[in-house]
Amino acid sequence: FEKAQIKHERIKAIGEMSSSVAHDFNNSLQQITGNLEMIKFQKNITQIAAERLKNIESIIDDVAERVSALQKFGDTEHDANDAQLIDFNKLIKESLNQSRPLWKDSVEKKGLKINIITDFEDIPKISCNKGELKLAIYNLIKNSVEAMPEGGNLTIKTSRKNKRVFATFTDTGVGMNEKTKIKIFEPFFTTKGFELGRGLGMSGVFTTINKYNGTIYIKSSELSKGTTFEIVFPESQLEVIKILPENEQKEKTSY
Ligand code: ADP
Ligand code: MG
Repeated sequence: FEKAQIKHERIKAIGEMSSSVAHDFNNSLQQITGNLEMIKFQKNITQIAAERLKNIESIIDDVAERVSALQKFGDTEHDANDAQLIDFNKLIKESLNQSRPLWKDSVEKKGLKINIITDFEDIPKISCNKGELKLAIYNLIKNSVEAMPEGGNLTIKTSRKNKRVFATFTDTGVGMNEKTKIKIFEPFFTTKGFELGRGLGMSGVFTTINKYNGTIYIKSSELSKGTTFEIVFPESQLEVIKILPENEQKEKTSY
């Protein structure tokens, strides 16, 4: 636990540095774009210059995308305006439906199979932003699927204990080595090569979950033995719906 805590502090420090660097970069980018616009609308620029300007514009777009990712990563401040009461089980189901092309259609096309097993307890609502959390869950599912190029199982469980809500995502994929475990939440860290991976999934997952007072842990991961991520959120203080005692109601589904 202590180790995990230290790691989270480290990532938060990287986040703070990221956002100040991103801020500076943004200012410079705006100046570059402003100058570029001026040149673009000059009369008499040669065709070759116009083409080069287009190249520069598309490079700037790339850089802007990365700067904005850095800025989001650094933004771990909790903004109460963005938080909503969320039924986590329902949100996971929606993410599964949205990501269906990833784990069903395209996988079956290759003659493989990924089984999704859900094991949901009746849990109290959590306080988070729906769109942000859905994107985070989508990215977790996407990574699990990508970690199982030969097919496999993804098991998603939710539970509650001591006024906290837990969700675990367990895949039977390739697992991770120590270096990956240490770097996984850093922006732009990827083991997939730049064509396949941008390294912006897990840093976004980390930002979103921390922003809303949650925590994410790599509960276990070993090379070729799969990976389990655990997300922990406090029960929302605003939660008014009465919930059955712990572990009393379960809903189990296989897809
Ligand atoms: P990307 O998927 O674009 O590489 P992410 O930020 O989503 O970037 O993930 C970063 C890295 O973390 C991945 O490249 C991969 O090495 C590792 N990773 C994430 N999820 C898993 C998983 N479920 N199993 C194994 N490795 C994973
Ligand atoms: Mg990813």
